[in-house]
Amino acid sequence: MKKISRRQFLTQAGNGLAVAAAVSGATARAFSAAPQSEKKVLIIGAGLAGLTCAYELKRSGFDVMLIEARVRPGGRVRTYRDPFADGLYAEMGAEYVDASDRNVRKYCRQFNLTVLTAKQYDGIYLRNRRWAMSNFKTNGLKLPYEGVMPGKLFNNEREYIQPWLDMIEDINNLPREVLALDNLSMAQLMRKAKAPKDIVDLYNYTNATESTIRPDEVNALGFVLGHYRAAGFSEDTNEGRILGGNDQLPKRFAKELTDQLYYGRTVKRISVHSNEAEVWYEEAGRLTLITSPRLVIAMPFSVLRKTQLQGKIPADKVKCIRELQYGHVLKLAMQFKKRFWDEPGSLGQRIFTDTLLRRVYHFSIDQPGPRGILLSFTSGDDARKLGQMKESQRMDRARQKINQIWSESDSHWEGGVSKYWNEDPFTQGSYSSLGVGQAKTFRALAARQEGIIHFAGEHTSGASMEGAIASGLRVSGEVKQSVDG
Ligand SMILES: Cc1cc2nc3c(=O)[nH]c(=O)nc-3n(C[C@H](O)[C@H](O)[C@H](O)COP(=O)(O)OP(=O)(O)OC[C@H]3O[C@@H](n4cnc5c(N)ncnc54)[C@H](O)[C@@H]3O)c2cc1C
Repeated sequence: MKKISRRQFLTQAGNGLAVAAAVSGATARAFSAAPQSEKKVLIIGAGLAGLTCAYELKRSGFDVMLIEARVRPGGRVRTYRDPFADGLYAEMGAEYVDASDRNVRKYCRQFNLTVLTAKQYDGIYLRNRRWAMSNFKTNGLKLPYEGVMPGKLFNNEREYIQPWLDMIEDINNLPREVLALDNLSMAQLMRKAKAPKDIVDLYNYTNATESTIRPDEVNALGFVLGHYRAAGFSEDTNEGRILGGNDQLPKRFAKELTDQLYYGRTVKRISVHSNEAEVWYEEAGRLTLITSPRLVIAMPFSVLRKTQLQGKIPADKVKCIRELQYGHVLKLAMQFKKRFWDEPGSLGQRIFTDTLLRRVYHFSIDQPGPRGILLSFTSGDDARKLGQMKESQRMDRARQKINQIWSESDSHWEGGVSKYWNEDPFTQGSYSSLGVGQAKTFRALAARQEGIIHFAGEHTSGASMEGAIASGLRVSGEVKQSVDG
C-alpha cells in the first residue's frame, strides 16, 4: 500500500491532480475492501445526528463505520466534570431538553436516563436595574424600554408584526408579502413597522440570544413564522436536562457502536462519484483513504465548507454549504464556595441580564452544596467580545459582572472555565441560524440527498439536540429506502 505525506496530499489536491488511491490503516482497508454490499455505509461525525443514524442503521443490519475527529462522542453535547470540585459538573454545550423534544425523551427512556425539570428565570437585571420575576409579572411592572408591555420580558415585538401575522391563513400557502420577508432581517422589519429601537435592543437579549446571532442577522420570515406558531423561546418555556449530565446520551449511543466507531480521524477531503465516495481522513499525522458505496455527512457545514469536497455536487447545495449562517456562542462555568444566590435578599438563582454574560444561572441544582456552579450562556456580539479575550481575562470580566448582580459573590469565587465554540476546530460556530435570504430554501437544501451522499445534523433539521436526532432518524430512513427501495 502506498502512503503519502500530508504535504504531498495537499500539493496534489491543490494542483487538481488525481490522488493515487492510497490506503493505510487496517480498519479503513478492511472496510474499503469488504464486499461492495449495498448495505455498507460510512458516516462522518459522532454527534447526536451521526450516532442516531449509525445506531438505527446497525439495528437494521447495515455494515456501518462511523468516523469522528475527536476522541469522544457527542460533539456539541459536552459536559465538563474535571475542572470542578465535589463532583460538580456543567454543561458547556447543549443543555435544555424541551417538553416537545419527543425523540430526545424517547432515547432517554430507552437508555434509562432521567430528564430533570430546570427552573425558569426568577430575576431580571437590565440597564443596571433589577426586578424579581414574580413581582415583575404579578404587578405588571414595565421594563425601562420604549414600547414594551407591562409585565412582559419576552415577545414585546409581537404587536409590531401583527399586520404580517394577520395575512397568514395557511402556513403551507403563504402570501407573497409574507414570503418576501425572507429578504429582510428582523431589525429591518422592525424599522418598517415603526417599532422603537428599544424593542430591537431588548430582542437582542431575549430571543436573539437563543439563536446566537444579532437582530440584523435574524431572518424576518423565520421570525414572523416563529411568532405565528408561538414557537419562540419565552420565560414560560418548559425546560429540562439530563440528570447527571447530557453527555450520558451520546455515550450510551456510542457504547452500542463500540465496534463501528473510530475516534481521532479528521476528514480532510471527500470525493463523490456516482457509485462510490472516497473519504480521506487524517490520523496521527497520516492520510488514509476509505471508500464506501454510500456516505452520510453528519458534520457541521461550518466545518464542511473548509473541507475539500469534490464531485458533482449541485451548485445550489454548494452555495448552501458555503453560506448557511452560524452564530457565536460562549459558555462560562464559575465555581463558588457557597451558594450565595440562595441567601435572603438575593435577586434569585437564575437571572436574565443584558451584561456581557447575558443568561446567568445556578446550574448545580441536582447536587448537594455548599459549593455550586453558576453558568453563563452568552452569544452574538457579547460572545465575540469575550471570545477574543484570553481565558484569564474572560474570567476577570465574568467575576466583575457577577459581582454587579450579587454584591457578596466576590468572596466566594473559586475559579471557572469557558468554552467558545467558534474557536473549536470541529464546530467553528454555535449552530445554524437561517440568515437573510436563507429561510425559504436553505433547510431543505441542506437536508437534500445527493445521489449516494446523505446529509444529517442539526443544520438539516433544527438547531437543537432534538433536531440532530431527528435528522439522524430521517437519514437512516433515507438510506434504507435507497437500498431496499
Ligand atoms: C453552547 C451551546 C448550547 C446549546 N444549547 C442547546 C440546548 O440547550 N438544547 C438543545 O437541544 N440544543 C442546544 N445546542 C445545540 C445542540 O448542541 C446541537 O444542535 C446538536 O448537539 C448538534 O448535533 P450534530 O450531531 O448535528 O452536530 P455535532 O454535535 O457538532 O456533531 C458533529 C460531529 O462531527 C465531528 N466532526 C467535525 N468535523 C469533522 C471532521 N473533519 N472529521 C470527522 N469528524 C468531524 C465533530 O467533532 C462532532 O462530533 C447548543 C449548542 C451549543 C454549542
